[in-house]
Amino acid sequence: MENNYTKYDKFHIWDFAQEQKAKGLIKHVGFSYHSGPELLDRLLTSHPEVDFIQLQINYADWENRSVTSRANYEVARKHGVSIVVMEPVKGGTLANPPKEVRELFRQYHPDMSCASWAIRFVASLDGIITVLSGMSNVEQMQDNLSYMKNFQPLNEEEQEIIRQAQRVIGKSSTVPCTACHYCLEGCPRQIQIPSIFSAMNKQLGNGQIDEARTAYRASALPGHFASDCIRCRQCEKVCPQHLTITDYLKQAVEMFEQ
Ligand code: SF4
Ligand code: SF4
Repeated sequence: MENNYTKYDKFHIWDFAQEQKAKGLIKHVGFSYHSGPELLDRLLTSHPEVDFIQLQINYADWENRSVTSRANYEVARKHGVSIVVMEPVKGGTLANPPKEVRELFRQYHPDMSCASWAIRFVASLDGIITVLSGMSNVEQMQDNLSYMKNFQPLNEEEQEIIRQAQRVIGKSSTVPCTACHYCLEGCPRQIQIPSIFSAMNKQLGNGQIDEARTAYRASALPGHFASDCIRCRQCEKVCPQHLTITDYLKQAVEMFEQ
């Protein structure tokens, strides 16, 4: 991440963006960010001209030490920069969180989706101008509209339920992969990493042992099993969640191949 920004300086990207803004070709200048609060603080201090920042924020990653949602959010607020939220539903995983969390949500709002809790959590924060909710079908869009059209921020009871959900997820051993697929392109063994992690999460998050094995068999084909990983770590260099992918694949071997 640090290297990327060195290149931005080298090629005068910041100046270029401001020139385009002065010409009226860009209205608001901002950038997407996937690292920690210290670098973000330095960047926003050096570039007070930035109008907005796109951050990964969701209730599950709020205190996550790799994603640092809360710390990054607080840095952006300190600099008065508007925030666009990406991954509010964590690649779809918060649409189907662990059973204990689903039950917490269902008891308070029997008719509201788990995704609605995730999106309303980020939309309730100050300084948010857009939530990129990543809908993939009409039903998800209708669900989204049902609570965003006349938006009500989370009340104190709902905030407490979110805190309980954070505690449950904090103890969970699921793989925090958002299925962004960035890791796939450079894998010399074409291992279907996000699909394998999704299979693992069926077992780790919901105890669905048979479903997990079936999903693993569907995603890991001969020559591309988790055990075919050569630990070159190409995937780990590009994972925006900073996952130790090779360790999780080792766990997949233990779960599904032994
Ligand atoms: S470490 Fe394994 S999974 Fe990652 S890119 Fe290399 S072979 Fe593929
Ligand atoms: S890059 Fe990381 S978060 Fe994205 S699919 Fe791969 S393992 Fe998951």
